[in-house]
Amino acid sequence: MSEQLAHYPASATINLEALTRNAKRMRQFAPNARHMGIVKADAYGHGRTSIAAALAKAGYDILGIAQLGEALKERRALDAAGHKNVAIFSWMLPPADEKAIQEALAARIELSASTIDQLERIANTGIEARVHLKVDTGMGRGGATPADFPALANAASRMETVNVVGVWSHFARADELGEEARAATLKQIQLFEDAVSAATEAGLTGFQRHIAATSGQIWYPEAHYDMVRDGIGLYGLSPDPSNTPTLDLGFEPIMTLGARLLQVKQVEAGQTVSYGGTWQAPTRRWLGLVPLGYGDGIPRHAQNAGPVSVYTAAGRIDTHMVGRVCMDQFVIDLGESDEAPAAVGDEVVLFGNPNNPDTKGCPTADDWADVAGTINYEIVTRLGARVPRAYS
Ligand SMILES: *Cc1c(COP(=O)(O)O)cnc(C)c1O
Repeated sequence: MSEQLAHYPASATINLEALTRNAKRMRQFAPNARHMGIVKADAYGHGRTSIAAALAKAGYDILGIAQLGEALKERRALDAAGHKNVAIFSWMLPPADEKAIQEALAARIELSASTIDQLERIANTGIEARVHLKVDTGMGRGGATPADFPALANAASRMETVNVVGVWSHFARADELGEEARAATLKQIQLFEDAVSAATEAGLTGFQRHIAATSGQIWYPEAHYDMVRDGIGLYGLSPDPSNTPTLDLGFEPIMTLGARLLQVKQVEAGQTVSYGGTWQAPTRRWLGLVPLGYGDGIPRHAQNAGPVSVYTAAGRIDTHMVGRVCMDQFVIDLGESDEAPAAVGDEVVLFGNPNNPDTKGCPTADDWADVAGTINYEIVTRLGARVPRAYS
């Protein structure tokens, strides 16, 4: 056990073999496309450098990172680990920071451009640049509007040091069931094809077309094009459990968030728990203290509901949080037995893979997302940096 793990009674264990199996699963969904591994936001909270190195070993030759600062750090980490030939694509250009652009290009990072101004800033460095032109086909976020895209492509085609290696976009509703979402997605595909035609008409050649993230890969096989971008599926979670639950897609959740019980005690009926006394013991019963709180990214919205499994000498107890989440801790209900049902040091699993023998039957990130009114993406990504990550 590392010193950090010894001193911090909670940890997130990341299963890198399961990551590799999820990567294989992604390849089954999109067998003919190049796969970009998305490791933005510290690899969705899983620890970017470890995930990036594992993806490089699993055969990924390009990784995607939204923020340039993270991309630069990852470039150094990959180079140091001997993965110099793994490309990095970064799609959020900081405003008015020419030094950052120079640094990015010197570090061989592929950039995205949505405006002619961004293209000019890239061209003005005089450094050879690999650039992906972005079209906003309906997400309404970054990207040139379909009306502006032809001018963007024309401008790029006239810039000597700008090599357009990609034309790309992003779906807004490819995970959703229902006709309306399907129509919106098909419309995005049409606008994407128009943009690709405009790029070709501008004289651009040899670029890769990419629009599909995990959901697009699974549910829109016609939108795989040359490259797909693997995100949440790599981490073993469904892009939309209300459409298809994680385990039904053949993914394995790779993060297990666990902690050790710090205290177990019996309280009388009527005892309230935590700030505001929002939960009151209905009978004389046992409570357990879990050393994780909102300072670790445990959502306060999970009060009185966040599910856990406690692995005791006698077996598993499936229960839930009672009262409000504090900064470093929360309390769970351990029931009414005469004897203490659990002991200090027993392992509490908040979420993980319920099919793993070690964490059989545990809750999932999807369960936490449900009680906190959010999505599984946020549950794993918001996990605090101070929670030690262990890799198995
Ligand atoms: C996050 C992201 C992805 C990956 O999305 P998933 O739904 O996690 O697969 C792909 N492309 C872009 C531009 C993204 O921001």
